[in-house]
Amino acid sequence: MKKTTGTDRSTTRTWRPATQAVRGGTWRSEHGETSEALFLTSGYTYDDAATVAARFAGEADGMTYSRLQNPTVAMLEERIALMEGAEACRAQASGMAAMTAALLSQLSAGDHVVAARAAFGSCRWLVDHLCPRFGIETSVIDSADNAQWDAAIRPDTKVFFFESPANPTLDVVDMEYVCQLAKAHGITTVVDNAFATPVLQRPLDFGADVVAYSATKLMDGQGRVLAGAVCGSEEWINETLLPFQRNTGPNCAPFNAWVVLKGLETLELRALRQSESAVTLGTFIEPRVNRMLHPGLPSHPRHDLARKQMRATGPIFAFDVGDRATAFATLDALELIDISNNIGDARSLMCHPASTTHANMGEDARAEMGVTEGLLRINVGLEDIEDVIEDMDQALKAAGL
Ligand SMILES: *Cc1c(COP(=O)(O)O)cnc(C)c1O
Repeated sequence: MKKTTGTDRSTTRTWRPATQAVRGGTWRSEHGETSEALFLTSGYTYDDAATVAARFAGEADGMTYSRLQNPTVAMLEERIALMEGAEACRAQASGMAAMTAALLSQLSAGDHVVAARAAFGSCRWLVDHLCPRFGIETSVIDSADNAQWDAAIRPDTKVFFFESPANPTLDVVDMEYVCQLAKAHGITTVVDNAFATPVLQRPLDFGADVVAYSATKLMDGQGRVLAGAVCGSEEWINETLLPFQRNTGPNCAPFNAWVVLKGLETLELRALRQSESAVTLGTFIEPRVNRMLHPGLPSHPRHDLARKQMRATGPIFAFDVGDRATAFATLDALELIDISNNIGDARSLMCHPASTTHANMGEDARAEMGVTEGLLRINVGLEDIEDVIEDMDQALKAAGL
């Protein structure tokens, strides 16, 4: 393959983010194709036995098996790493594969994890159920209270794990404070950056060690494939993540990697436009509801912090319409916005977290997180915002709001 454009870091390092999103990691074959090639192959062949022996011994570059390397997946990994400002990245089969690998690759029985209580339902399951089964103790705290991070640290604390903004209550973590606190105690910070992506927020700039993604969301951006990614230093990826990943196999399929590569080309345009539309829609809804959870609006307790650490606040927000019956009535009256629990899509999508994404975590955990019975979460898409506002207006009216 001819490495003609995006794989030489001496060149790509100087590219601005929008250029990296379109060209970073591009690795052209001898055909010189414009669009990245899709290498739908599980294995590789070799000219002679010595070549493959050298590759397996780590003495020669080259692919050996797609659980270990694949050219299309490698292009995605390099592009995400460049956008994130990370030394290295490894793509994963899904966001949850990424979170599981980021945590389990570095934790052992006897370690302690401090995690944000506001989190995606399956992220909470890892913390509340999976880790403890293997002797890893976990403490769940209010991530928006800096003092609780300090207070939760123990001599055996190995990892801090949080999302910001968090799913679905949009809690914002003081990234710089928490990452620097972790550094001072030799703790590894793992940030789930799915709601922001590197276009809106780069946790490594604040001192995070590991950034993990559901690429299913804004990175794909059109609701097509499941994918994930884990970024970090070359040393951490090679010595900690890779032994786990290569032997347990949560790898991203080449086709899915290719779709996400295409999505990254338009990520900045989409993320900025959808963020702007989300502020417009949130401003329209706010006077009609009891509780608005939107980091892009001045009513959010950490609005200023969100504006400081994010370029824009993203397409997702939540609001409370009072009770489950009113929430369902609002959803059922929608004509344009779809009822869907996905996010990051170009379509506006709305769901009721308590009965969907956060249903299996139990009532107590939901109450503690603020996932109330009247809470609705929306992903604002790329439709004309006036059409979305009109649909929301008639749905709220139909629900008596
Ligand atoms: C969706 C989501 C995940 C899980 O990602 P999948 O790709 O669905 O496995 C993890 N964290 C957050 C914040 C998410 O929104």
